[in-house]
Amino acid sequence: MINFPLEKDTFLVFLFLIFIFVFVSFTFYQQEKLSLKAKVVFFDLQGEASLIQLPGGIDILIDGGEGNDLCYELEKELPFFDKKVDYIFLSHPEKDHLEGLFCVLDFYEVDEIFIADFPQKSFLFEEFLKKAKKENIKVEKLSAGDMIEFPFGGRIFVLWPPQECIFDNFNDCSLVFLFLFGKEKILFTGDISERVEKILEFNYDFKVDLLKVAHHGSKYSSSPDFLEKFSPQMAVIIASKNDKYHPSQRVLEAFEKEKIKTFITKKDGKIKFFSYGDSLEIVSP
Ligand SMILES: [Zn+2]
Repeated sequence: MINFPLEKDTFLVFLFLIFIFVFVSFTFYQQEKLSLKAKVVFFDLQGEASLIQLPGGIDILIDGGEGNDLCYELEKELPFFDKKVDYIFLSHPEKDHLEGLFCVLDFYEVDEIFIADFPQKSFLFEEFLKKAKKENIKVEKLSAGDMIEFPFGGRIFVLWPPQECIFDNFNDCSLVFLFLFGKEKILFTGDISERVEKILEFNYDFKVDLLKVAHHGSKYSSSPDFLEKFSPQMAVIIASKNDKYHPSQRVLEAFEKEKIKTFITKKDGKIKFFSYGDSLEIVSP
């Protein structure tokens, strides 16, 4: 049993152990920073949120889910001394994608927020922009054709929407982008429906390794033509445990028919990949 106040020797041993713990954690973190792999995490929480960690210790959040759960989840993914999220990409400002980013702005230093041309007004989004402004965080609007290159590997190529979104709902003006790491391609689709998928099929020609399935696996997205065109090897459906409507049976059958290995957060929990630039390894489940 430890009696307080501690004897001087016990105190020194205690201090030494703390020092060793911090030193080992920090060395491990530095090694991770220098490694040439990217980590991609799809969180199992209410709504939708994902994290990409790049070499050089660059953290990118895509959406924030609903409520405050993301901040608890981030604590598990980032080292305890890392209180910085470099970039936030907001696919669209609906509650199930946006709400969790408020606590990120409260507890983490953020360099820049990327958004798209979102056509409607939303109280939550206005509040979010006000908060970002108050904290001097740069907010930049992206559109199809934009490319963001990260210093130690990894690029984001924006596919949708155009500078002025032609649709009048948030879902179809979702920021859609391709995350490129070496030869690996991961497609993030926000909550788009089939009518945007049709435009993407017409405008682009590539195959993807991993697809973040649109709109929680909704029956109005993931058309057979879309799956055939971009032919993902693997797919992730982010659907919350209490969401009765997603993913749809039609979508699950379509993925099965195309023999696409599919992970679903409500069944598999948190889904984690390592990308090495020429191979994608599933770490969890
Ligand atoms: Zn959604």
